[in-house]
Amino acid sequence: MSFIGLFSFKTLTSQFNFFDMENIDNYNFTNKKALIRVDFNVPLDGDFNVTDNTRIKAAVPTIQKVLSGGGSVIIMSHLGRPKNGPEAKFSLSSIVDEVSKLVVCDVKFATDCIGAEAKEMASDLKPGEVLLLENLRFYKHETAGDKNFARQLSELGDVYINDAFGTAHRAHASTAIIAKFFPTEKMFGYLIEKEIVSVSKVLNEGESPITAIVGGAKVSSKIIIIEKLMERVDNIIIGGGMAYTFARALGGKTGNSLVEDDFIETAKEVLETAKAKGVSILIPSDTVAADKFGDDANTQVCDTNTIPDGWMGLDIGGNAIKDYVSCVSNSKTILWNGPMGVFELTSFQEGTKQIALAVVEATKKGAFSLVGGGDSVAAINKFNLANEVSHVSTGGGAMLEYLEGKELPGIKAILKN
Ligand code: AMP
Repeated sequence: MSFIGLFSFKTLTSQFNFFDMENIDNYNFTNKKALIRVDFNVPLDGDFNVTDNTRIKAAVPTIQKVLSGGGSVIIMSHLGRPKNGPEAKFSLSSIVDEVSKLVVCDVKFATDCIGAEAKEMASDLKPGEVLLLENLRFYKHETAGDKNFARQLSELGDVYINDAFGTAHRAHASTAIIAKFFPTEKMFGYLIEKEIVSVSKVLNEGESPITAIVGGAKVSSKIIIIEKLMERVDNIIIGGGMAYTFARALGGKTGNSLVEDDFIETAKEVLETAKAKGVSILIPSDTVAADKFGDDANTQVCDTNTIPDGWMGLDIGGNAIKDYVSCVSNSKTILWNGPMGVFELTSFQEGTKQIALAVVEATKKGAFSLVGGGDSVAAINKFNLANEVSHVSTGGGAMLEYLEGKELPGIKAILKN
């Protein structure tokens, strides 16, 4: 069943002025060749074996939907960052066996994503068959958004499906430009639909109390999101390095903690705006401070506004954990972006771990929880809790830009003619 049902239809139409698109669940794929842009940018070991097949697995429902509907599939993807044309270590030929195994079908491979061979193999494709094209980024035209390159790709299929959320914030040939060649025969895959609907569930349809947990290193990289979230949420929990810029804005002493002096004024403005809007901003009351950056540092717990000189805050303290857990467990909608501390180091992972567990508990009680954007995804994976929240986003940068309220070219291209 598609995630874009009646509920999200309303959501999406309120976000975009124009809504007139095909839907993967309703489309008749019989005898159609579906050109699917996926994100198979998977890690490989020294022998070119896939070491983490999560991204391939995630695209299987969309591929299977086309095949079971009587169509054939042409898969387009990038892998790595090839600099100047084809490079063996970035060849998608390395993943053919893994894709075949997961799609449960013999996947054919075209050694070039455009040109005579790709054209012939695509045109010979029978219903139920799958063709994987070589790395799109072997052509610099891909990232340049070249129209002629996009046209050549478009000629391989009858219908275009975008299921690559991770690259939806880029106007690349295969993610956005190509859609122009499919005025009506274009749609989202299941994976990208779920990303869109999950953000909508938080920003447009979220049930109150809505809590955003924003952490990570710097205020500067999260300020637009915080400003955007203030229009929508009831609580914003602040953690990570950025907490110390807020602590300074409140007149605190933060020792050697990470502080962005240029953003102290901005943090003050955020606190004032939040007060005016009735949004509660939670700053950690206490902090685990260290005398150096490392697992072998000496530590002490102190008030966040009186961190001694020479010490730096690397995690939230026990009182802050209690406050934050209580706020999260009373929430009906939760967005989590950014860790509470330097979770990569065992000595400073506790705050992030306890917040992750609180998000899981709230989800069990019926809250909707979205974990999105960069390091919070790494954190939830580290604690093996990714399957216990409502949605973990597959797109780091794309999710950040989406939450900032930016129009993503890959999404806009499907929604608009
Ligand atoms: P971001 O990419 O902005 O979400 O930042 C994530 C990074 O912030 C992670 O690598 C964390 O180790 C780091 N981080 C979290 N808390 C702190 C802190 N208190 N001081 C310095 N770095 C931190």
